[in-house]
Amino acid sequence: MIHINLNGESIPALGFGTWRLDGDEARDTVAHALDLGYRHIDTAQIYDNEVEVGEGLRASDVDRDAVFLTTKVWRDKMRYRDVIASTDDSLRKLNVEVVDLLLIHWPNDEVELAETLDALQEVQHAEKARHIGVSNFTPSLIHEAVRHAPGLVCNQVEYHPYLDQSDLLEVMREHEMFLTAYSPIARGKVMDDEVIRAIAEGHGKSPVQVTLRWLLQQDRVSAIPKAASARHRTSNLDIFDFALSDDEMAEITALAQPDGRMISPDFAPAWDA
Ligand code: NAP
Repeated sequence: MIHINLNGESIPALGFGTWRLDGDEARDTVAHALDLGYRHIDTAQIYDNEVEVGEGLRASDVDRDAVFLTTKVWRDKMRYRDVIASTDDSLRKLNVEVVDLLLIHWPNDEVELAETLDALQEVQHAEKARHIGVSNFTPSLIHEAVRHAPGLVCNQVEYHPYLDQSDLLEVMREHEMFLTAYSPIARGKVMDDEVIRAIAEGHGKSPVQVTLRWLLQQDRVSAIPKAASARHRTSNLDIFDFALSDDEMAEITALAQPDGRMISPDFAPAWDA
């Protein structure tokens, strides 16, 4: 495993995403992921699977303390009291005393960012979240958020070879934050990429494995591929016995496209502002 160093704490850089995993499938895949060796699990209130993710945690043989568990507050819960109450609800559903990381899922300009951040800091102060952070924040929103809450550690955003996040990464490194890449394999699109396929063949690896390696070889980058399939889950973890050269890293970085973003709901922020 590659780790991200966060003030002396080691965070497993490869995590397991759980969006669109529901019911028994969510419980069983989380338990299996942990038994395979994943030690970082990503869920959210809006995924409606916190109960099952918590059950999966307890069904595995892995200690709760050994797992980095993230959940996210949905955008209709951005008022102070709603952050507090919905986090309590998340902890109850997950059946844990504390999450390792609590994120604002999307910025919501209908509520003052400072109010939401105050609540997040209160949750951390009450030891219900070990770390706090944001998701889908632009560079300018990161600057604004960090001014108010300097302890934010993470911004979870879409990141894969087709989307350039270099400006955002620079800002985040400046603030000593880490970036968690969601949709890290562009939802499977990388499998058909000729450039990535050629690099993968040279290493005896798959294009998905090469893409995950490309992400994790970048400073302060974590990735959370989702895999309902046991074969995918297993193979996504098998990326720690090879390394990409600087030239290979650059070849993949050069695949970024201006329209490479895949997730941009109507409530998304102005990405390039
Ligand atoms: P993703 O992880 O890039 O792609 C998931 C898709 O790739 C699934 O269809 C999966 O198939 C397939 N796949 C996984 N491993 C594979 C492999 N080795 N070979 C071939 N196909 C493979 O996309 P995502 O689910 O959008 O993102 C991952 C996680 O990020 C989510 O689960 C969620 O936790 C998080 N996320 C967060 C936000 C946010 O706003 N913060 C937004 C989107 C996602 P199977 O499932 O059939 O195995």
